[in-house]
Amino acid sequence: MGRVFLVDLDGRAYRCKFCESALALVDHVLSRSFNCNHGRAYLISNVVNITLGSQEERLMTSGMHTVEDIFCCCCGQYVGWKYVEVSDKNQKYKEGKFVLERWRIIEEATEGFNSDARPVSSDPENP
Ligand SMILES: [Zn+2]
Repeated sequence: MGRVFLVDLDGRAYRCKFCESALALVDHVLSRSFNCNHGRAYLISNVVNITLGSQEERLMTSGMHTVEDIFCCCCGQYVGWKYVEVSDKNQKYKEGKFVLERWRIIEEATEGFNSDARPVSSDPENP
């Protein structure tokens, strides 16, 4: 492939679907059953090779959250968001964690088998 990644990960990684930069380790996934306004998403403890957007308040199904959108730093694609502050104390575990939208990333080991990863509009997390 010949691509030079800013940070590469030692292990199975999720990569940006658009430029294949490594974004997160599969081992760092906390939850695979997250839903967002584009369908399935992953809650992840740490991500790399991203840039953060500006902070904003966002009302989600689980309450008001302060979030920052995250973008692939190589191609600039929106890939998910970071929970900065969560108002509901039952949701505090999300603070400082990241969400990657499933259809915007590819999982290394299953690359080419993600044909079901298309956007759906059910169960919106955003207004
Ligand atoms: Zn990218």
